Amino acid sequence: MRKTRFLAGASIVAAGLLALTACNSGTPGAAPGAEGGAGDEPVYGAVATDVTIEGSPTFDKITSAGKVVVGVKEDQPGLGYLDPVTGERKGFDVDVARWIAASLGFDPADSSKVEYKAIASANREQAIINGDIDYYVGTYSITDKRKEQIAFAGPYFLTGQGLLVAADNDTITGKDSLTAETTVCSVTGSTPIQRIREQTPAQVVEFDTYSQCVEKLKNGEVDAVTTDEAILLGYAAQDPDNLKIAGEPFSEERYGVGIAKGDAAFQEFVNTMFTDGGTTWQAIFEANLGASGVSGEQPTVDPVS
Ligand code: GLU
Repeated sequence: MRKTRFLAGASIVAAGLLALTACNSGTPGAAPGAEGGAGDEPVYGAVATDVTIEGSPTFDKITSAGKVVVGVKEDQPGLGYLDPVTGERKGFDVDVARWIAASLGFDPADSSKVEYKAIASANREQAIINGDIDYYVGTYSITDKRKEQIAFAGPYFLTGQGLLVAADNDTITGKDSLTAETTVCSVTGSTPIQRIREQTPAQVVEFDTYSQCVEKLKNGEVDAVTTDEAILLGYAAQDPDNLKIAGEPFSEERYGVGIAKGDAAFQEFVNTMFTDGGTTWQAIFEANLGASGVSGEQPTVDPVS
């Protein structure tokens, strides 16, 4: 066990996120009214009826299959997480995925209507191209390179790349403190691994998932984990005695919903949902990330993302 250096700010954030996680267990995806007293609807809103989307191959596929197949992450607490004890999926991204499903007319509370597939960062474009999933919601940054293969709706969330280190590490204080002696772990096919390679002399270790990197950090096999701060805050909240965020974010990551390239009708449907969604975005944010320390402001949709 590492020696703990108590970091007031991070620990308050951590405690808040844990408390929220605890309060929230059992609510996302619960049947309408199950929450008791908090209104009649789950955070992602009502299930739409009589939905049509003219000229959308994705919607046609969903309609004939009778269910939505969503690509997600399942090891990112607060964002896309599969609870190993309850088997329940939760997180901001999972609830955004449910919001889309509900808006398409598919009830997220009915497991025969919404199927989840965990897809690692490196495999997202191919999963969309192959039609293995209908759309992807999982800390997926909008980039020009990815847009050569797929399309995005959004952005629906903004964050920035950061560093997660051991709580007693006073050497790493931000991107510019990384040296050729620092070992940094990140994920194959992600934007942060590329940036850390391009912009720092650090040695880079890569895995398929960020939770594998966090394990290496806890074992002392790497000095830092790098990815989006929103993701890192979730891991820090799970183990605030041993983990902390070092320094300030050093990029802008704009999260989009990954969809098939060329399906402009589906893209417009999701963008309209984000734009005209009333308080749903805020409700989803509050339920999952409200105490995490990340910005709670919904970004403006960019119709050409
Ligand atoms: N947002 C970054 C990306 O899309 C990092 C997070 C992730 O790998 O999902 O590459």
